Amino acid sequence: LKKIAVLTSGGDSPGMNAAIRSVVRTCAYHSIDCIGVYRGYEGLIEGDFKEMNARSVRGIINKGGTILKSARSKEFRTKEGRQKAYDSLVKANVDGLVVIGGDGSFTGALIFNQEFGFPVMGIPGTIDNDIVGTTHTLGFDTALNTVVDAIDKIRDTASSHNRLFFVEVMGRDVGHIALNAGIAGGAEEILIPEENLGLERLVESLNRSRKSGKSSSIVIVAEGDKIGKNIFQLKDYVDENMEGYDVRVSVLGHMQRGGAPSCFDRVLASRMGVKAVESLLEGKTNFMVGLLNSKMELTPLDNAIKGKTKINLELLRVSDIMST
Ligand code: ATP
Repeated sequence: LKKIAVLTSGGDSPGMNAAIRSVVRTCAYHSIDCIGVYRGYEGLIEGDFKEMNARSVRGIINKGGTILKSARSKEFRTKEGRQKAYDSLVKANVDGLVVIGGDGSFTGALIFNQEFGFPVMGIPGTIDNDIVGTTHTLGFDTALNTVVDAIDKIRDTASSHNRLFFVEVMGRDVGHIALNAGIAGGAEEILIPEENLGLERLVESLNRSRKSGKSSSIVIVAEGDKIGKNIFQLKDYVDENMEGYDVRVSVLGHMQRGGAPSCFDRVLASRMGVKAVESLLEGKTNFMVGLLNSKMELTPLDNAIKGKTKINLELLRVSDIMST
C-alpha cells in the first residue's frame, strides 16, 4: 500500500480525533501517504479529501468531536453511490481505507469491500460500547466520566431537597453506560434494557431505601430501558405510588458525546490507529481493531456487526449488593 484514507462516520465520539492523529502519524512513520476524508461516506463519494501529514494533526489529541466531521450518507447505501466513492479513491490513488465509526459504518465498509475488493479496516468509535470484539469502544470511557460527574452534581441537589432523581443516560439498546456510571455514581437503582426489574419492584425497593434512612435517591435509566414507556411516565408512576419524595427527571442528552477524551480513550485511540494502519500494511482487510485482554486484536467486521454485546453479570451483582 502507498496511500491510506481515513474517515469518521455515524455518531461522533470523544477520541475520534486522537484516532485520526494516530492513523496519520503511523502512515508518516511507515513513509506512506495519508488523506483525510471529510464528512464520512458523503465526502468519500464527493472526493472531499485533504492530504495529511504528521503536522496536520497537531493539537487535536485533546479535542472532542472529529476534525474530519461526521455524516450519515444515504447515497452510500446505493450501488451508484459506492461506485462514485470507489472512483474518487482510485482517482486519488488511495489503496486502503480506515473507517472510524459504529456498526452501520462497518456494514458500509464491508459491502464496499465485497463489491470492489477495496482493503478496509475499522476502528470502533461510539460512546455506547455496543460493538463486540473490543471491551471498550472509543469514547465509552470519556462518556462514563462525563456521566459520573453529572451524577455527582445531581446528588448534591438531590440530597439538599430530599429528592428522588431519575437520570437518563445514553447507550442505545444496551446498558453499558448506565451500569458502569450507575455503580461509580452510587446510584440506588440502575435500569437497563438487559434486565427488567418491573415497576412494582422498583417502587418497593425505593420505599425500602427511604425507610432505611436515605434522604435522596438516584435512579439511572438507560435510554433503551423499557420499564416505563419513557422516563417521564416512569416519574409519574413513582410520583403516584410513593410518598415522601419530590421526584425529578434529568435527561443528560448530547453532553455525553462531547468533551476532551479521557487519558484511557487517548491511549486506546493511539493504539487502535497504529494497529489499523499496520494491519492494512500487512495485507489484512475486513477487520476491526479492538482491545481484548489488554491487547490489540483483530475481529472480522462481519462478527463485529452481527454480534451482540453482553452485559457483565458480575457488575450487575456488584450493583445489587451496593444498593442494599
Ligand atoms: P453510530 O453507532 O454512532 O450510530 P454508525 O456507524 O452505526 O454509528 P450509521 O448511521 O448506522 O452509524 O451508519 C453510518 C453510515 O454508514 C450510514 O449513513 C451509511 O452511509 C453507511 N451505512 C450504514 N449501513 C449501510 C449499509 N447497509 N450499506 C451501505 N452503507 C451503510
